[in-house]
Amino acid sequence: MEIEQKEQLYEGKAKKVFATNDPDCLIVDYKDDATAFNGVKRGQIAGKGVVNNKMSNYLMGLLEKEGVETHFVKELSERRTLVKNVKIVPIEVIMRNIVAGSLSKRTGLEEGAIPAMPVFEMYYKSDELGDPMINSDHALAFGWATEEELKQIYDTAHKINAILKEFFAGVGVDLVDFKLEFGRYKGRIILADEISPDTCRFWDSKTKEKLDKDRFRRDMGGVEDAYMEMMRRIGLK
Ligand code: UDP
Repeated sequence: MEIEQKEQLYEGKAKKVFATNDPDCLIVDYKDDATAFNGVKRGQIAGKGVVNNKMSNYLMGLLEKEGVETHFVKELSERRTLVKNVKIVPIEVIMRNIVAGSLSKRTGLEEGAIPAMPVFEMYYKSDELGDPMINSDHALAFGWATEEELKQIYDTAHKINAILKEFFAGVGVDLVDFKLEFGRYKGRIILADEISPDTCRFWDSKTKEKLDKDRFRRDMGGVEDAYMEMMRRIGLK
């Protein structure tokens, strides 16, 4: 079936979502708009939409090869991708291999400290509330996910972390932490949203230089160059 883009369903902070003539599929369109601190800081990162689209698709392809089902269907253009139409689980999962960001603030542990094992966290997806941290009891008690879904999300997040950590180590990058979102699709839980320098912390393994959105959040400059450098490391143009 020839895919046709239909009406816009949603415009988020970094992406637009369109319906298609196939009810099982949506088109996401990546923008250059950047926000941080729950929308308080706003700006543009030139070319970011292209980087995030291509990188996310590449990484989802890699995960699919390792048996992780994702929403990725087909890259349509530099900024647009066909994805499965999932119902997003209202939980943001964060996996951490190195202490940084909010974990450092919350615990007083120094950025760069290495936990004894990867740390799995959950946050309730709510812009109004600023994505508060939750635990599995909250998720179950308030009906955000079932016990079976939570177990699958936990196991899949660890598997994804193991795959991505090894992949990035191979291109000289420490995968510090990253955010995942899952969706329900035909009764299954699959990986959705994106995996990009917007949603991951990447540090150069040798110099520990930041190659991700922290350069924007912290006004460090060199934001576009960092995103391009990550593309180069992965071998994408
Ligand atoms: N993250 C994200 N979206 C969010 C919150 C966090 O993509 O709404 C990513 C962020 O880029 C980082 C990781 O999740 O790679 C952990 O973020 P953290 O909890 O340290 O929050 P931050 O310090 O960014 O506020």
